[in-house]
Amino acid sequence: MSHVPRTRQINHPLLFEQGAPGLSAAALPESDVPAVKRDGVIPKELLADAPPTLAELGELDVVRHYTRLAHRCFSIDANFYPLGSCTMKYNPRINERVAAMPGFAMLHPWQEDEDVQGLLEMLYRLRVWLAEIAGLAEVTLQPAAGAHGEMTGLMIVNAYHRRRGESRPNVVVPDSAHGTNPATCTACGCAQIKIKARDDGRLDLEDLRANVDESTAALMITNPNTVGIFDNQIDRIAEILHAKGAQLYLDGANMNAVLGIVRPGDFGVDVMHYNTHKTFSTPHGGGGPGAGPVAVAEHLRPFLPVPQVVKRDDGTFAWDHDRPQSIGKVRSFFGQIGVLVRAYAYIRANGCDGLKDASEKAVLAANYVAARLKDRYHMPFPPPYAHEFITIPKFGDSKVTETDIAKRLIDHGVHPPTMSWPIHHCLMIEPTETESLASLDHFVSAMLEIADEIENDPQTVRDAPHTTPVGRLDEVGANRKPLVCWRELRTTNGE
Ligand SMILES: *Cc1c(COP(=O)(O)O)cnc(C)c1O
Repeated sequence: MSHVPRTRQINHPLLFEQGAPGLSAAALPESDVPAVKRDGVIPKELLADAPPTLAELGELDVVRHYTRLAHRCFSIDANFYPLGSCTMKYNPRINERVAAMPGFAMLHPWQEDEDVQGLLEMLYRLRVWLAEIAGLAEVTLQPAAGAHGEMTGLMIVNAYHRRRGESRPNVVVPDSAHGTNPATCTACGCAQIKIKARDDGRLDLEDLRANVDESTAALMITNPNTVGIFDNQIDRIAEILHAKGAQLYLDGANMNAVLGIVRPGDFGVDVMHYNTHKTFSTPHGGGGPGAGPVAVAEHLRPFLPVPQVVKRDDGTFAWDHDRPQSIGKVRSFFGQIGVLVRAYAYIRANGCDGLKDASEKAVLAANYVAARLKDRYHMPFPPPYAHEFITIPKFGDSKVTETDIAKRLIDHGVHPPTMSWPIHHCLMIEPTETESLASLDHFVSAMLEIADEIENDPQTVRDAPHTTPVGRLDEVGANRKPLVCWRELRTTNGE
């Protein structure tokens, strides 16, 4: 099961240490144009004194070097990856095939609409499907990620209030919100009003009522929320907002729990974003890319970004720029097309029943793992959970921290779960629907073994990981002063 080496690996030589003059990975044909002396062609002061000291290696050496490095990385293709809130599900290979089709991959954004009808039809269908899944009126595909979708959504909300001649500077945000929610408020010039959750993880309606008035632009809520609980008061929450003319914004990062089961538009949401790279697959982590389509209710349609992909009466497709109340463009050209193709392929392959099945299994997997861990790991919120859950491990007087448990999981070939978010000292575990029962059981036994170690041998947990090329790093130092190439430094500095 584990792909992590069982013993520490000796550092492998750098490319610079492996190379030898004359080795080459390129086989270029003889030049069929005459050589030109560089003197006089390029000004002297721009010429280097000597060629760059690049390593010279054969192709196989290069392949082995990078394959070896790749095997040192955690990835969804090699390891169970229960990173809460990120939905690290399997990325079907067919998506990659489709995204790489020349008809999608080789287009230029300035091509005429007539030349790219296939792409436009695909995007049009995707936006209609996403609106249907949301139970909302219309979708823009332009935003490049969830956070960018939040910004787009809040700009739309602000445009709507402005259009009605209202000044609404405040946005209400639960204290368990993802950091991007308050950041979005700031980016859109809104003041953030924090409200607390109750002990069962749901919103305190009294607190909400006390904080919503005619100055409220919107509530930004994640549902299922960031502690893995579906807030079943959501229709009443919507009523409280709508009674004061405020909008309900749904952070759709957790849509993987509810596809085909409930539609945000049906429980009162006015505007939401998707994270297609979470819910509808796409290799992500390490910074992208993603896509953050935004769905809006009927009254917000006029404010969607331009251009919008539309179907004309004659059945052809086009970019519509003529939307006078639009907030404008939020991204160059049309959005992250390659990621949108993957989302299209994923939805198309699964169909309605398949999407619902994926969500039901994601929820089942999370509740199964939680049920098997609950005797040894403290669960601060009562089940049932959505597609992820939070535990605050019982540390006793072991001096073990949540970070130590995460590091120890690496020794079991498991990627660390999300740590210390959204509450202190927690681990947030999201197995996703794509893991087999065997890999869920492997994770559970690793966690139970670690629970035993915390009681009997805490030092082993505190010193983890034990099986990786490097052990416990000074995390701040490793980020601020990364030594990616220490042998190089030593040879050039002579120290
Ligand atoms: C991932 C996430 C975001 C941000 O989405 P990006 O696509 O990473 O910009 C926002 N809110 C929640 C709850 C998330 O999990």
